[in-house]
Amino acid sequence: MNTTDQYAVFGHPINHSKSPRIHTLFAEQTQQRLNYTAQDVPAESFTSAVADFFKHSGKGLNCTVPLKELAWQRADILSERAKLSKAVNTLVLQKDGSLLGDNTDGIGLVADLTINHKLSLLKKRILILGAGGASRGIIAPLMEQSPTHIVIANRTVEKAVNLRQEFSHLGNIAGCSYQDIRDNEFDLILNATSASLTGELPPLTSTLLAKQGSCYDLAYSNKPTAFVKWGLEHKAVNSLDGLGMLVEQAAEAFFIWRGVRPETKDIIGLLNSERN
Ligand code: NDP
Repeated sequence: MNTTDQYAVFGHPINHSKSPRIHTLFAEQTQQRLNYTAQDVPAESFTSAVADFFKHSGKGLNCTVPLKELAWQRADILSERAKLSKAVNTLVLQKDGSLLGDNTDGIGLVADLTINHKLSLLKKRILILGAGGASRGIIAPLMEQSPTHIVIANRTVEKAVNLRQEFSHLGNIAGCSYQDIRDNEFDLILNATSASLTGELPPLTSTLLAKQGSCYDLAYSNKPTAFVKWGLEHKAVNSLDGLGMLVEQAAEAFFIWRGVRPETKDIIGLLNSERN
């Protein structure tokens, strides 16, 4: 019987996931004995795959597209941030056999912005492009940084308006169409659409980014994404992709599972150096 603690990321597709590499580097750095794998799990197999995993020395799971909502439904207990985001990217086996669901995406983004890139969000005008699962996970941690306001723009306007309604108790949040923001200016534009994955861009006007503003694409790729290029073309002070967020959300999950916080700086540096 394998007694090494098992961890994994479930998703579909999953073959390009960097999570096994990141968690293996964390384990080496912190001298934790564990095994972390990537498993291709379509939505219809999620419940049985989770049960099987935790039956065979499984201690913790990451869940990615398209499983975060199913993981939220499966969790027996939810952290406050998972309750708010209605999506779970981290499952933890508790001593009593129950599964705790958490969401580390938002805290990972904020850590990358504020610690790694030293960007203060205080009194900043923030625009979030997209109103899917990732947007849902980042709104509350961003609001905790006390920006002036957050505007969520989405192709399907109803989803942006719904998010606004759900999160409006946290502060000044608007939900609208791309057309509605044409004449506005923002200090930070976050691309939380999946458009970059197909090399596309949401319809952005060239005046959206304020002078000294920054752009951040939650998606990441070896080459600059379409949105990172857009930021560079529009003279963003920073035009970043989501590799740092990926490592930071993983570090938070690792901490939840193992009680040890890995250092992320060198690992982000290593993964950056491997881009070609
Ligand atoms: P969802 O499928 O839940 O949402 C996708 C969003 O993108 C929707 O708002 C959709 O609009 C919008 N969209 C898709 N294509 C276009 C397009 N061509 N033009 C304009 N809008 C478009 O995805 P997620 O929210 O889970 O993920 C979003 C992105 O965030 C992905 O790129 C993902 O890789 C990244 N991500 C990165 C993480 C990291 O650690 N770096 C963590 C989590 C996510 P509509 O509602 O109209 O369909």
